Amino acid sequence: MKEHIYETDLLIVGSGSAGLWAAYSAKQKNKDINVMIVDKGPENWGGLMACAGGDLDIVMPGEDIQDWVKDWVYYYDGLCDQELMETLFKDTYEILEQYQKWGCEYLTDENGRMDTVGVPQRGLEHIKLYVTKVKGSGGLRMAKALAKAIKEAGVESLGRTMLTDLLKDETGRVIGAIGFNTIDGSFVQIKAKAVLIATGMGGWKSSYMKNPSTGEGIAMAFRAGAEIRNMEFARVWNVPKLFGWEGQTTLLPLGARFVNARGENFMERYSKTLGSNTDPHYSTIGMALEMRAGRGPCYMDTSALKPEDAAVVKPKLGWQYINYNRLKDDCGIDFFEQKTEWMPQPLMSYGGLVADLKGATRVPGLYAAGRCRSIDPGVYTGGFALASTATSGKIAGESMVDYVQELPLVELNQAEVEQLKGKLYAPLNGTGVPAKEVLRCIQNIVYPYEVSIIKSDGALQNALHKMETLKAELLPQMGAPDAHYLMKLKEVEAIAFITEWYIKASLMRTESRCGHYREDYPDHDDNWLKWIVIGLEDGVAEAHTVDVPIETYKHPIERYYQDNFKFE
Ligand SMILES: Cc1cc2nc3c(=O)[nH]c(=O)nc-3n(C[C@H](O)[C@H](O)[C@H](O)COP(=O)(O)OP(=O)(O)OC[C@H]3O[C@@H](n4cnc5c(N)ncnc54)[C@H](O)[C@@H]3O)c2cc1C
Repeated sequence: MKEHIYETDLLIVGSGSAGLWAAYSAKQKNKDINVMIVDKGPENWGGLMACAGGDLDIVMPGEDIQDWVKDWVYYYDGLCDQELMETLFKDTYEILEQYQKWGCEYLTDENGRMDTVGVPQRGLEHIKLYVTKVKGSGGLRMAKALAKAIKEAGVESLGRTMLTDLLKDETGRVIGAIGFNTIDGSFVQIKAKAVLIATGMGGWKSSYMKNPSTGEGIAMAFRAGAEIRNMEFARVWNVPKLFGWEGQTTLLPLGARFVNARGENFMERYSKTLGSNTDPHYSTIGMALEMRAGRGPCYMDTSALKPEDAAVVKPKLGWQYINYNRLKDDCGIDFFEQKTEWMPQPLMSYGGLVADLKGATRVPGLYAAGRCRSIDPGVYTGGFALASTATSGKIAGESMVDYVQELPLVELNQAEVEQLKGKLYAPLNGTGVPAKEVLRCIQNIVYPYEVSIIKSDGALQNALHKMETLKAELLPQMGAPDAHYLMKLKEVEAIAFITEWYIKASLMRTESRCGHYREDYPDHDDNWLKWIVIGLEDGVAEAHTVDVPIETYKHPIERYYQDNFKFE
């Protein structure tokens, strides 16, 4: 087996929006620092940003960031990390300006102004997204711009390399990582002064291009001692049944709506104030209840869109353009003229690593940025991710430059490396249960509505029992014929980790809040103004709660977004 040994000052795991921004910002801060960015996918491909619309939440000059934070306190039903949100969003305009300098374009009014064309999100007063000009390839353009910028800055990039374990010195500081090349299987060791995990969310490999979001970065950091939180919140999205689509965060505010089989705008029944113009976590509860009552299937109805708005959101390039035309030409369905069937789908976990305002976890030398760190619970505003992954990446990259200033590179303990290597390659024997089969079993455990959308104690207990059996019996039997399938196997191990804690934390939170809906506890409960935090204590994974420090925050909780809904 071939082996590669690298050394660098900063090691960045994941070349999505967060990782690329971290690499770029670290080099801007100190051009002499060595930065290496590693991805299990193609070199510097951009992660989910490469398929994203490219819309951004931007606090425009003249706006007060505190108004945005107040919106989030309301939207997250109080479970808002107020200092973190202020830190991540106050400089979003700088990010926009940088993208514009790189040639990325966003919609403006006829006078070339952007601030007049923001799309308000989820019925909130201040939070708005700004729409990319070329619908269908906005994210890809941003990813390419960033990849070019880091290449020019001298960042070293390694593609098709999955990192699997972190190594620490005797003081507990992270000093490197190991992994393997996913094409030829060769072993990789990287010595580094600090490591950034920027590996995105954990998830269930649903549609909507979420294939790489499996959570091994989160699991690897957890094993090294970092904490995780918000595991009870999962992203359940509305997706079309027949084809991939993105952009409901713009379509719904512009007048599109969900209707049931009788053509009723059913969300108006569940929310008199917001109707369909809300977060998918609420409209998917509505969809699940409609189906249970025999009023399914549900459809996206775009007939109320004004022609000029439809012209703006119609895809012009990229994968969405292909889907739009194929749907029209091959199936005879025009997305903007007919209703299309949509359904709820659990995509990803909101759970992620706990880190401070600079991105540092509780493990020295280990940082987190982007969607793999826990920023927001449960509900989402369109444009949130590309803005917050950019700023959290930028902040972490710059902080790491300061952190490594006087630090030496430390030799990795080769006995430990050999032991981890043996464990890594052990399933590579051609026999064993294929990872895909185990993935299907996990999906079957988590996808039922009563586990993922309208949760209840009985269903969650049942799911936990199945998950524990799967972990004890099926997971250890997985095998892989080659390096590619070894990567898939490692992904499924991480998915199992994420799923177990999703179910356990969902059971623990005996209330409903912020998109986590317990049918047996349908209201929010003041005793639950807490985060569930999970960490390894003496080698054992334990969950505890941490109060939201509302008395030290700037904004009290005056109202709850969830109170806009009544689900019978
Ligand atoms: C279709 C679609 C449309 C979207 N549209 C928008 C939008 O318009 N606006 C918006 O704000 N957001 C949008 N999003 C969401 C947004 O794109 C993502 O949330 C964001 O890009 C995530 O960035 P990230 O860097 O945190 O993680 P990711 O993009 O998930 O990047 C993580 C990277 O880490 C790599 N990786 C993971 N594990 C390992 C490992 N063990 N070793 C090595 N590499 C690893 C992965 O291959 C990946 O490249 C959209 C997403 C999709 C899929």
